[in-house]
Amino acid sequence: MNKELIKVEMLRKYYHSSKGLLKAVDSVSFKIYRGETFGLVGESGCGKSTLIRTVLRLLKPSDGKIVFDGIDITHLHEKELKSFRKRMGIVFQDPHSSLNPRMTVFDILSRPLKIHKLAKKHDELMLKIVEILKLMGLQAEHMIRFPHELSGGQKQRVAIARALMVEPEILFLDEPTSALDVSVQAKILKLLDSVKKQKNLTYFYISHDINLIRVVSDRIAVMYLGKIVEIGDKETIFHKPLHPYTNGLFKSVPVPDPDVKIDKVPLEGEVPSPVNPPEGCRFHPRCEFAKDICIKEEPVLKEMEDGRMVACHLYQ
Ligand code: SF4
Repeated sequence: MNKELIKVEMLRKYYHSSKGLLKAVDSVSFKIYRGETFGLVGESGCGKSTLIRTVLRLLKPSDGKIVFDGIDITHLHEKELKSFRKRMGIVFQDPHSSLNPRMTVFDILSRPLKIHKLAKKHDELMLKIVEILKLMGLQAEHMIRFPHELSGGQKQRVAIARALMVEPEILFLDEPTSALDVSVQAKILKLLDSVKKQKNLTYFYISHDINLIRVVSDRIAVMYLGKIVEIGDKETIFHKPLHPYTNGLFKSVPVPDPDVKIDKVPLEGEVPSPVNPPEGCRFHPRCEFAKDICIKEEPVLKEMEDGRMVACHLYQ
């Protein structure tokens, strides 16, 4: 079995807009290993959602390579992609809009099974749906309900159940708790954690919330304006963020160990537009350490001694 489940190399997703070329994802590379939770964090609009949709091939990549379990899926046609889609599930941020209001929970959950021809007979569908509802902490009677008859937390449980119906190997979690009440968020996180262990899943978790990403992830990638600027083990990054942007993101995180000292520099200024982003390092207009080279030359992701990757001229 390949320990490396997903490998992304120099992936780009560009759009033509009335203002110019929008570089939503620009030459991004990373790997996701089986069984881990790989967290991707960055401010809203940095390209996180575009990135996961492109890796899932819901969006066509502009350039680069996506390898799933050793197979290059970058240019596969829809028909060829079907068997890979079954192995990758997604849970969207907003359960209110991701569930069809005209379908019952039974219809919502039976659809993926029908599409992938995993169960045809009504009894078979019923059995699988009752089982997954139980796993999600819902009752069998919920299957006859429509989304508007469910609470926000119940809707997200149904959305997670839908992603799990075809027994995927990896779940892409696009801010799955951010549209929920704080009290419900903790329950959904607990549920995701228990499902991951029970089903031996791999998670690709994205969020703008660095505190949340720190709690749920094994490794973290930090994204800024379409680029990944730092990747590494979560504790290494938390205790010693190297990239000035990562450092700024962590500014609000309390340090539990009084012996750990982090020179925290608050983030200032607005994120520039991904249309015609700044030359050189994209973070330079907001970086207090910027030097001449930062304005002219784009830093590349470089491996450090502790195994993490950082894209910053301070370390090149
Ligand atoms: Fe700051 Fe330069 Fe590093 Fe960019 S490359 S983060 S501008 S020091």
